[in-house]
Amino acid sequence: MPFPYEAPASQTLFDRAAVVTPGGVNSPVRAFRAVGGTPRFMVSGDGPYLTDADGREYVDLVCSWGPMILGHAHPAVIDAVQAAVARGTSFGTPGEGEVELAEEIVARIEPVEQVRLVSSGTEATMSAIRLARGFTGRAKVVKFAGCYHGHVDALLAAAGSGVATFGLPDTPGVTGAQAGDTIVLPYNDLEAVRHAFARYPGEIACVITEASPGNMGVVPPLPGFNAGLKSLCAESGALYISDEVMTGFRVSRAGWYGVDGVEPDLMTFGKVMGGGFPAAAFGGRADVMAHLAPAGPVYQAGTLSGNPVATAAGIAQLRLLDDAAYGRVDAVSAEVRGLVTEALAKEGVVHRLQTAGNMFSVFFTDEDVTDYEKAKAQQAYRFNAFFHAMLARGVYLPPSAFESWFVSTAHDTAAIERIAAALPTAARAAAEAEA
Ligand code: PLP
Repeated sequence: MPFPYEAPASQTLFDRAAVVTPGGVNSPVRAFRAVGGTPRFMVSGDGPYLTDADGREYVDLVCSWGPMILGHAHPAVIDAVQAAVARGTSFGTPGEGEVELAEEIVARIEPVEQVRLVSSGTEATMSAIRLARGFTGRAKVVKFAGCYHGHVDALLAAAGSGVATFGLPDTPGVTGAQAGDTIVLPYNDLEAVRHAFARYPGEIACVITEASPGNMGVVPPLPGFNAGLKSLCAESGALYISDEVMTGFRVSRAGWYGVDGVEPDLMTFGKVMGGGFPAAAFGGRADVMAHLAPAGPVYQAGTLSGNPVATAAGIAQLRLLDDAAYGRVDAVSAEVRGLVTEALAKEGVVHRLQTAGNMFSVFFTDEDVTDYEKAKAQQAYRFNAFFHAMLARGVYLPPSAFESWFVSTAHDTAAIERIAAALPTAARAAAEAEA
């Protein structure tokens, strides 16, 4: 595959990395395996831009996979982090920052009466599942194909994100026992969920779903799907867990809950709430959360949970995310989407631009994508050509056709003009791409 330009400094770092780290990366999608070429090693970020080790600047449409909703190195976040660091980086005791961040989350999201802070989205979903099993005394978990909930053993069956990118149906290392209580159903198929509850009466602890999936590309729930899940769970004494690690504090003040208003029993958060630091959370009904140690018997813990630097970054970022900020992100998203679809249409490239609030992605297909099977049926090779043409013109997209694109309040006219300038060539590359 032809790659439009070399990245010698990134290549040197990648070669060094490959010696000491499997595949040269610390998270698989970063490796560019789906799109080919050399992953760019970034050295700095400023507003909507990233600069790589070769000194090239890119408009960033990944935003660290969602967290950087105010852009890179926002002065208020940096100030808060510097002040926190100067006071010490970890105490292993409770601290005020944890209380403030928890209060901010509870204030924004009505169904969250109590919240527990953790360090990654994976920990949040893993702990929420354990709590749901402990609370209900049941074992089985329903998840949906194409939904990614982090690399929790039991949830790696038919997962999206990197698992989708690499086409792994499952992963070695997850035993039959670990995944045996996981029921994987097609997304947006309430009938399948109804059938599962009928088949396993009194055995299902919870249904976990991405509030609006972004890990098979953006595939929003059909009208009534989340509400249907909620009522099926309520009817049979199972918990409805809404994974808002990606959508939380991104698509509105109250995440996807702020869009569809369906009240989950438990929710999970990460990404935006950490301001670029490792901070995540799970929370929900107080009577369920009361089962968590030390209040209750379900064990869960973390040396760096509620870390003072991470909580300072998260609070600073969330406090800037008011209605005006979300209005700005939504407007940027609409503008970029309009430009992308215009450029692709001009070249006659068949595509679907799917959105969930300000999250969006392009599918190279001629039908609406409502589940994982349809997502996988797209002409992903067109994305790969499109990706490299954009990269060569200084626009950094997620290096996979199965990921959401993210924008920020910092994407200003100059950044959007750079995207607009790159699009015609990229659309032509997509049109000319061959499988
Ligand atoms: N849940 C969802 C919806 C996600 O998108 C992700 C990560 O992309 C996770 C969970 C896992 O979060 P983390 O990568 O912080 O472990």
